[in-house]
Amino acid sequence: MIELKGIAAAPGISIGPAHKMGKEEYIVPKKEILEEEIPLQIQLFEEALIKTRKEIIELQRRIGSEMGQEEAQIFDAHLLVLEDRMLIEEVIARLKKEKICAAYIFSGVLKKYIDVFSKIEDEYLKERIADINDVGKRVLRHLLGAEARGIGSLTERVVLVAHDLSPSDTAAMHKENVFAFVTDIGGKTSHTAIMAKSLEIPAVVGVEEATSKIKAGDLLIVDGSMGVVIVNPDEETLVTYHQESERLKGVAEKFLLVKDLDAVTLDHKRVEIFANIEFPDEVPSVKLHGGQGIGLYRTEFFYMNRKDLPTEEEHFQAYKFVAEEMNPHPVVIRTLDLGGDKFLSQFEIPRDMQPFLGWRAIRFCLARPDIFKLQLRAILRASVHGNLKLMYPMISGLEELRQANTILEEAKEELRRSQVTFDENIQAGAMIEVPSAAMTTDILAQEADFFSIGTNDLIQYSLAVDRVNEKVAYLYEPAHPAVLRLIKNIIEAAHSANIKVGMCGEMAGEPSFALILLGLGLDEFSMPPQVIPELKYIIRAVTLKQAQEFALTALRLSTGKEVEEFSQVKLREILK
Ligand code: PEP
Ligand code: MG
Repeated sequence: MIELKGIAAAPGISIGPAHKMGKEEYIVPKKEILEEEIPLQIQLFEEALIKTRKEIIELQRRIGSEMGQEEAQIFDAHLLVLEDRMLIEEVIARLKKEKICAAYIFSGVLKKYIDVFSKIEDEYLKERIADINDVGKRVLRHLLGAEARGIGSLTERVVLVAHDLSPSDTAAMHKENVFAFVTDIGGKTSHTAIMAKSLEIPAVVGVEEATSKIKAGDLLIVDGSMGVVIVNPDEETLVTYHQESERLKGVAEKFLLVKDLDAVTLDHKRVEIFANIEFPDEVPSVKLHGGQGIGLYRTEFFYMNRKDLPTEEEHFQAYKFVAEEMNPHPVVIRTLDLGGDKFLSQFEIPRDMQPFLGWRAIRFCLARPDIFKLQLRAILRASVHGNLKLMYPMISGLEELRQANTILEEAKEELRRSQVTFDENIQAGAMIEVPSAAMTTDILAQEADFFSIGTNDLIQYSLAVDRVNEKVAYLYEPAHPAVLRLIKNIIEAAHSANIKVGMCGEMAGEPSFALILLGLGLDEFSMPPQVIPELKYIIRAVTLKQAQEFALTALRLSTGKEVEEFSQVKLREILK
């Protein structure tokens, strides 16, 4: 038995066998397609074959000149796989019949070929398995876009162990086949971790030695609340964790009793408890957990795991669905927040242009008004179907906010001209996640309808700590005095200007910070749906006055650690 320590990324305890995911594996999402999408999927498949062919011929040419013709001929077998009519026809036939995306069908057919070949006692054919595998991965890479990876079709439920997982990998996971996951690298507010919370998959990231210490098939206990992974536990440890998992379920039941009640303090101060979502199909989970609105709908995931850009109609249908389902509760749609740790293959932008401080989010949208306006039009069109608001990510100053609002006005004008109705009073807010915005909220308040504090980025930018780098994760402190002062500043400026301020960064859903934020006057807390009941429970257990005193004391402390310890003690008292 060994115990590995990492960063607690998504809570819960799961126990299951390890499945190691190599760098070159791909998660292939099972995406159903419409009848009219079939030709496009066939075209994408054929293009992927052509691109792979080009790639292999280029490789062959290079190897030929560097190592000799004999070595280069190895790739002839790869090319033959690409020309295998039986394989190609089977993919196309199944795609038409089953109406599932090309990547998924192709990976299924490939797996069948490999299974058949591996059963035949023939050395030559056995060697061909490696070729099929290699070519198959290349084709899949083209089909999925460069950044997606996959685990193919898992036949049993496993704990995934990988060096790293991208948000699009996580997006393709399902609770039904993934118990939990463990990665060597990554931080608490990486989008991979955030997605794991939404999917209710316990996760420990930044374990460093996970892939070197864990073997495929090892039994793992993943404690996503404490950031611990136990490899091949002894009987006693297994029993302890089973008991702990039962205890957690018991505590959760206590929270569930209040989940549908309002978040009101004992002295009647009401705050809004909203949910963060990445996909429309999370709406049932929001309702189930008592979310009274959606404070952050991260739309960039809509663009992931696909080869083409979503059309205005697709955006519209998704937003309309969420608006209708949540009506009359509000839904805040955040416009495309590309970059940082979220890359999209469609745009073919070199990654080094879109690091956290780069050409991303609203900066990218303002430079590509075609893409931006299309999304804004869809949000506007959907606004008549419910209570929609929109907000812009990564606003750093008034000019950006103005430019975004100008494009919004253009979109409105276009719709008016075509006599398409929309909510004329739709609110447009700004995310406050860049220190320059946090320091100038009084100015931004003149032209924003509301604010939403994005602490995930605000913390990384103000403390200069990369949110996805486990080496500096110890410095990533939501309760750092600098962060608390910024938050206080933002809330005060918003209230002086008479606008509401919410928070949609992970800090809003951290039970230990709930009282400080309540005391500082935050109007709305938006978080992964699963933590809503607990947050409601905490808020309902105190008075606003107590929370204000608590916040005052917290603001007088000198380090993030002190604030954290102070908060933990108070929280334990409440949850007793
Ligand atoms: C944030 O930065 O806090 C936020 C909510 O946005 P994201 O995590 O998507 O960057
Ligand atoms: Mg952000």
